[in-house]
Amino acid sequence: MEANLTIAALLAQGSQRLHAVAGDPASALREAEMLLGHELGAGRAQLRSQAQRLAGNAAAGRFAQSIARRARGEPVAYIVGRREFWSLQLSVSPAVLVPRADTELLVERALALWPHSPARIADLGTGSGAVAIAIASERPRWHVTATDLSADALAMARANAASLGQDRLEFVAGDWFAPLAGRRFELVVSNPPYVADDDPALRQSDLRYEPTLALRGGPDGLSCLRAIIEAAPGYLEPDGWLLLEHGSQQAAAIRHELVVRGFASVRSHRDLAGHERVTEARAANCLRFNDFASTG
Ligand code: GLN
Repeated sequence: MEANLTIAALLAQGSQRLHAVAGDPASALREAEMLLGHELGAGRAQLRSQAQRLAGNAAAGRFAQSIARRARGEPVAYIVGRREFWSLQLSVSPAVLVPRADTELLVERALALWPHSPARIADLGTGSGAVAIAIASERPRWHVTATDLSADALAMARANAASLGQDRLEFVAGDWFAPLAGRRFELVVSNPPYVADDDPALRQSDLRYEPTLALRGGPDGLSCLRAIIEAAPGYLEPDGWLLLEHGSQQAAAIRHELVVRGFASVRSHRDLAGHERVTEARAANCLRFNDFASTG
C-alpha cells in the first residue's frame, strides 16, 4: 500500500480486496473496519468520524498484512484474536471454533426453557466458552459446568470466563458426558461438531482454519449428536432439558433420535437464516438406565 494514507483510503483499498472472501461489499467493509480498528485501537464509529485522519505507515503496514491473511480465507476473529458473542468480548484462537451469531439461539432457548433458579447446567464441548459464559452472565445463581476434550480449548474458555469476571463456572476436561459421571443436570446444552466428514465446506474458506475436532461429526455429521442423545437420559434430572445445535438439514433426524429415545416436547427452532438449527427435548419418559442399575 502507498505511504501516508487516510483511514478512508485504507478502508476503501482493503475492503476492495475482501469482496470475494466476504461475499458482498458491505460485509467486506465491515471486516476491513474490524481489521483496521484492531490496529488503531478504534471502534467503527471512531474510524468513521476520523476518516480523513492519516493512519500512519506502521499501522497501515500491519493492516495490509491482515487484509492479505483475510483474503486467503483466515477468519477475522483469528486475526484480531477475539469475537463478540451475546455482547461479550471473547478471546479466540485456532484452538476453538469461532462463535457464530446463530449459536446465540442456544443461549436464548436455555434461558427460556428453565425459568426457575437455581439450576445446574452442563455445556458439552464448550470451545471458547461462549455458550456457558453467556448463560452464566444471565443467570448468576445457576451452576454452570463446561466440558471440552481439548485442553487448549478449555484453557481459552477458562481465560474468557476469568476476564469477564465469571468466576463461578466449573471447567472439566473430557469427552461429552465422560467427566460428569454420577451427576444430574436440569439443562444440558451442546454445539457439537456436526459437519459430515466429506462435506466440501470443510475445505473451503473459513472452515479450513477452524479445528476439525470442533467441526467433523463423522460420515453423516451426526455421530456426536447421537452419542450425546443416547447418554443424556443418564445425566438429566426428570423433566430436565437437552438442547442441541445441529446442521441446517439435520433437524428431522435429530427429532427422530430424540423421540425414539423417549424424550418429550421435542421442538426445533430456526436460526437467523431461517434454517432449523437448534432442537430441544425434555427427558420426561426416557429410560434412565442408572435408575435401574441399583435395583438389579
Ligand atoms: N455452524 C458451523 C458451520 O457449519 C459448524 C459448527 C459445528 O459443527 N458445531 O459453519
